[in-house]
Amino acid sequence: MISIRIRLLILALAVSSGFDARADVPVPARVQNPISIEEAWNVVRLVTTNVEQLLREQRSTEVVDQMSLCSPALRLIVRTPTPNLDQTQRDDQTMRAARSINLMARDSMAGNQAGVEAVFVEWKKCLQELGVGFDAKVLNGEVFHCVDHPDVVFLEAGNLCSECQRKLHPRRIPYSFVYVEPVSPSVKVTANLSKEIVPGKKVEGKLTMRNMKGEPIKKDDLMVTHSKEVHLIIADSELQDYQLTHASPAETAGDFTFSFTPKMSSNYRLWVAVVPCATGLQEYVRIELGNSKPETPLPASEPSMVVNVDGYQFQLTIPKGSRSVSSGKAGEMQMIRLRVTDAQGLPVTVLEPFLNAFAHVTGIYDDQKTVFQLHPMGGDIISEQLRGGPDLSFKFYAPRAGTVRLFSTIQVGGKSITAPFVLRVDPK
Ligand SMILES: [Zn+2]
Repeated sequence: MISIRIRLLILALAVSSGFDARADVPVPARVQNPISIEEAWNVVRLVTTNVEQLLREQRSTEVVDQMSLCSPALRLIVRTPTPNLDQTQRDDQTMRAARSINLMARDSMAGNQAGVEAVFVEWKKCLQELGVGFDAKVLNGEVFHCVDHPDVVFLEAGNLCSECQRKLHPRRIPYSFVYVEPVSPSVKVTANLSKEIVPGKKVEGKLTMRNMKGEPIKKDDLMVTHSKEVHLIIADSELQDYQLTHASPAETAGDFTFSFTPKMSSNYRLWVAVVPCATGLQEYVRIELGNSKPETPLPASEPSMVVNVDGYQFQLTIPKGSRSVSSGKAGEMQMIRLRVTDAQGLPVTVLEPFLNAFAHVTGIYDDQKTVFQLHPMGGDIISEQLRGGPDLSFKFYAPRAGTVRLFSTIQVGGKSITAPFVLRVDPK
């Protein structure tokens, strides 16, 4: 089996929280408000590095999501006494730092890259002043946490989670909660199927995951996203059959099992989506199954933003100010809205959560090298009783121009329904 890797994108985890009026800003669920000064500086340090990266990539609209994490940290930092600092100085620094957070948030939401850059310089200056009197170990320390129990936090390595005995990992905050550019892969995966692919016949499969040193990647080494460690996108090379599933840890360390029932005759490929704890970044490893030819691009297709499946209508729109546009734009964060109506055109309000979301959207570029996944804004849906619809909004960042097949999966009455869209992404 050949494994080609592409690596990408997303986290759309979010709970609301934050400083004063910023409750609408999504915050990754794993970053709890700090309760120790070390945790506070850790957040500030990671976020500041992330903002630098976003500004380098001209993605100032996402800076607000990062900065919203800093407010609780700043409150804790300014309450912590440091020697040789009089209160007036401290008050002044605090005010300037809080002001920088607010200004960066404002300019970020307005898409004002130059504005964010200017305030960011001031923010770094404030941090330097605020850091005076703190030990370097406090300023630069790692925070170790459990990826399942984010309130289990240690300041030194080597502990196990008191709740689940899982290994703790250094806390990582991804620089984007929407799309992360490919970096060098950290996971190697091979796949074995129990038998040949025959349409309509269930196949069992085994994945073997190794890190770059060849050591097994265990369940504990992977973050849980949408309630699973390993998500799988399975599709035939023409993208006629698309399935979203997951793999479960097997007894042997580094092995994960899955099964699926193919609809087509062969030429399947599989994208293994994982977030290694070591990096905190989403990776997609592409694996060719059977005779699939990795470099065969899809035939050209016309954009299609309205799709009818199983008596439901799915409509995609991209709101832009007071109107909507019919294509995405590369290199910019945008919103996509999905609306689901029934055969009578009535809004569907009974979308059921599965894997902690009312919908899962996978985007695959026509050359099948870039994959991304989107989840509705508003955070993980933990309660099975909740229902969603008819409108779901997604933050969306297309890394480049081209044609993207978007597969949007919902669940109604225990049955999952997938609508295939074709989206054009224009150059920046
Ligand atoms: Zn735990």
